[in-house]
Amino acid sequence: MRHFDHAYIGGRFVPVLGTETLQTLDPTTERVIGTATLANREDARRAIAAARDAQRTLGRTTKAERISMLKRLQAAVLARTDDIRDATLDEYGGPLSRARWVSQYASQSFANAIAVLEDYDFVRQVGHAEVVMEPVGVSALIVPWNSVAGTMCSKLASALAAGCASIIKPSEFSPLQTRVVAETFHDADLPPGVVNVLLGRGGDVGDELSTNPDVARISFTGSTPTGKLIARAAVDTMKRVSLALTGKSATVLLDDADFRTTVPLALNAAFMNNGQACVAGTRLLVPRARQAEVLDLVRQAVAALRVGNPRDPETAIGPMASRAQYDRIQHYIRLGLEEGATLVTGGEGRPQGLDAGWFVKPTVFADVHGGMAIARDEIFGPVLSILAYDDEDDAVRIANDSAYGLQAYVFSSQPERARRVAMRLDVGSVLINRIAPDVLAPLGGTKQSGVGRELGRFGFESFLEPKALVTD
Ligand code: NAD
Repeated sequence: MRHFDHAYIGGRFVPVLGTETLQTLDPTTERVIGTATLANREDARRAIAAARDAQRTLGRTTKAERISMLKRLQAAVLARTDDIRDATLDEYGGPLSRARWVSQYASQSFANAIAVLEDYDFVRQVGHAEVVMEPVGVSALIVPWNSVAGTMCSKLASALAAGCASIIKPSEFSPLQTRVVAETFHDADLPPGVVNVLLGRGGDVGDELSTNPDVARISFTGSTPTGKLIARAAVDTMKRVSLALTGKSATVLLDDADFRTTVPLALNAAFMNNGQACVAGTRLLVPRARQAEVLDLVRQAVAALRVGNPRDPETAIGPMASRAQYDRIQHYIRLGLEEGATLVTGGEGRPQGLDAGWFVKPTVFADVHGGMAIARDEIFGPVLSILAYDDEDDAVRIANDSAYGLQAYVFSSQPERARRVAMRLDVGSVLINRIAPDVLAPLGGTKQSGVGRELGRFGFESFLEPKALVTD
């Protein structure tokens, strides 16, 4: 049993003042493996005060000093890669390949920020003005439960590179991962208050971060409804807000693509991170004339996917992160059946032989149309909707027929054609003939998928503000 009842404030782990306790369950076994006592609004105020004190000095640090801090963070996180991976498996459910990637990416994000910082010119001339890029100030970094270590580290890396002191609020559902990552931050021996970490509910800790006048900036990753609450709460103190939100990404399979190789990739795009990924390609758009061929390949590919113990390297899909997630996915599978979609594979209930744990059957629906909830809502699990299109224009129309616009995937054997279609998609990023992201490229959404961009130079610049010094 592991118990986490501290927050990391001002360079020290301090007992939280909050009293609410939550149990942590292993999603593979449903057994209790830990408890966490959540921080409250008063803890958030302590963390904000520590960041405000640190900001005075941090805001004036040189590039070299920031690079030195980022290097120490990179080394400290790298040293605990295996612990981060294990905490992810224990608390979140993997699968192993994903847990391993996230734990490595966590330290890599500091190296990425160093590369951006080394190349960046903080002063530039615009007409008669000298424009100086200044840190925006104390930043609240709010993190969801589906990508804990990676999001904590990549947000911190951008903020610190820009000279902003941070308060990180991970999801209340991720104490084990939060604890390990916070320990690595402590090991990096940064000046007190440069980074603070506390677990707490959105309604008090999150709200304090969104309304406190000493917080200048909010970098939020999570769902669209929560993003709207934060944007509303933050406007009175005119915080700089970026929102990385919900997705319902389309994968456009053009008729010239090699279906044998691209259909399995499209399934991976849909089911990555157990389907609990904002960028999951959960709407697969296929040429109507070749739908039967795609369905055959989909059946074969899903049959080959192993669902089960996330620690097994052969496992493609582990358990959902929580009972609530399991129930949500069952609800949407039922809804798909009621709406009249054709069940290609999967369905309600647990896969055979898996009686404990929040395992779901990877599920594919065909004959889905844009009016169905399974085509419109983010399900956040391994449920794929196949929609048929008549021609390229129709494919673009269906792909853009969404409230969201985070990411899309295009598969084609003709690079120029793929690019032409990609340019017509109303989304933040398009992955062409691949499903692995470029972690230096900007990540963010159009429409209800958010405001602003994370990662690389764009993510870094979102923590800066230009000041113009105009002279003769
Ligand atoms: P969520 O919106 O429920 O919670 C996200 C974070 O916000 C948590 O830390 C939560 O405690 C906090 N929060 C809740 N209410 C708050 C409030 N009133 N004020 C301040 N903070 C508050 O999201 P989730 O369920 O943790 O994560 C899943 C969602 O995140 C999905 O919709 C997914 O698509 C999205 N997501 C987006 C990206 C992206 O890059 N666009 C990446 C990962 C996840």
